[in-house]
Amino acid sequence: MKDLKIEVTLSSTKKEKPQSDHLEFGKIFTDHMFIWDYTEGIGWHDPRIVPYQPIALDPASTVFHYGQTVFEGLKAYLTKNENVLLFRPEENMKRLNRSNDRLCMPKIDEELALSALKQLITIDRDWIPSAEGTSLYIRPFMIATEPYLGVHPSSQYKFMIILSPVGAYYKEGINPVKIAVESEYVRAVAGGTGNAKTAGNYAASLKASEIASENGYTQVLWLDGREKQYIEEVGSMNIFFKINGEVVTPELNGSILEGITRKSIIELLKYWNVPVVEKKISIHEIQQAYHDGQLEEAFGTGTAAVISPVGELFWQNEKLIINNGETGPLSKKLYDSLTGIQNGTEQDPFGWTHRL
Ligand SMILES: *Cc1c(COP(=O)(O)O)cnc(C)c1O
Repeated sequence: MKDLKIEVTLSSTKKEKPQSDHLEFGKIFTDHMFIWDYTEGIGWHDPRIVPYQPIALDPASTVFHYGQTVFEGLKAYLTKNENVLLFRPEENMKRLNRSNDRLCMPKIDEELALSALKQLITIDRDWIPSAEGTSLYIRPFMIATEPYLGVHPSSQYKFMIILSPVGAYYKEGINPVKIAVESEYVRAVAGGTGNAKTAGNYAASLKASEIASENGYTQVLWLDGREKQYIEEVGSMNIFFKINGEVVTPELNGSILEGITRKSIIELLKYWNVPVVEKKISIHEIQQAYHDGQLEEAFGTGTAAVISPVGELFWQNEKLIINNGETGPLSKKLYDSLTGIQNGTEQDPFGWTHRL
């Protein structure tokens, strides 16, 4: 493991830490942040940890106009015996570089970026909440900073990492969500940027989410951009269905995001010998399975919620109520097992967790 030599400026004041049972998602940030600059011809330079603070940018910076930016999201957990565990962080760094490649942004040394992440967490270690279900959310991201209004890949970038203590996603225990199948708007198309973790995908998704929310649905289920019949994913989650004993999830087709939770769930199911297949699935097949009484469970997967059971799918004026709107046994078992591995209360036969 390579180490990045970082210049550290510690904050002279310490912010008050929030109470573990009052944490929301992504509103409070720790005392420090990491910054690394990139300049064409020089490469990455001046890695530093500084007090958490606003950054000054030229208003002409490329990121503001043409959206050259990528991000990642992962979590650090404090175990019962006060160890800090990261969940498959090397996968996030690999994906960051895949996103960078798609957006014509410079690659970063994955080991050095991970070293920076670990050093930052070590400095703000006291911020990792300890109550059940809580964690420290880690947001690495990169923005294009060249002050130039021409449309071309920027010659300057900043890679930064910020940290935010977050609460249990389900305050009252794991709870099913209601999801509307989106038939007008699309999130991404094959050949676009759907499989890169980049801001534009989210900007494009807000309109449909807003409408769904006005109708009482938490999120939307996206269909493919060409035929609007094949299932893609949900908001910031990949989607799984259990149909007649078999677990199915859309195959990676270039327009859905390759979730690390998705990958882990597939590996866990295979380890348990539960049949799981990645394939093209149409919304009509889901509707048919529902009418045949074979749609047993549905759940989303992503770093924030880990597993999010789906209690209702709304499609063409029909409410598909899944498992009586309750959390299914497989969803519950996957949630307990994966969160157990992540927070160190369960064995990790895969070597997924890294101790800080
Ligand atoms: C981040 C993200 C996911 C989930 O990925 P994880 O690595 O499991 O957190 C799914 N879909 C989209 C669009 C995302 O941005």
